[in-house]
Amino acid sequence: MSTAKYKRVLIKISGEALAGGKGSGLDFEVLSRLSGVIKKCVDIGVQVGIVVGGGNIWRGVKDGAGKIDRARSDHMGMLGTAINALALADVLEQHDLDVRVQTAIEMSAFAEPYIRLKAISHLNKGRVVVFGCGTGSPYMSTDTAA
Ligand code: UDP
Repeated sequence: MSTAKYKRVLIKISGEALAGGKGSGLDFEVLSRLSGVIKKCVDIGVQVGIVVGGGNIWRGVKDGAGKIDRARSDHMGMLGTAINALALADVLEQHDLDVRVQTAIEMSAFAEPYIRLKAISHLNKGRVVVFGCGTGSPYMSTDTAA
């Protein structure tokens, strides 16, 4: 039986990683493998938070440059991170994990708003918290949020 070196970890996963070899969209093999590793961590008592990127769907600067307004393009990018967060949450649940999605931009029909103390409370209860929408502000990245 492994023992945990860290009590709590925050993982940042880029959208590109979630796309696997495909380069865009979602590779569910990758999501499943990742969820299996996270399950092992939770099972030995590690609290896990995950910040997800969205580059597999839309990158504000790269995909919108010269075509649409930068802030709007970044809003689209943040929506991409939310799509990834929901997909990852579902696959984590398929691995028998208790999961909550929190987003920096309110999407109350399918995610909780990001509330720091609530996130900590979930983590303390052994729930995995998946964070979407990065910082909630354009001109930023999900790395900044992490
Ligand atoms: N984004 C943003 N503010 C943030 C986080 C992300 O505007 O706080 C937008 C931005 O357009 C970015 C896209 O969402 O290009 C996807 O996020 P990121 O590039 O961090 O994803 P990753 O490269 O990790 O897949």
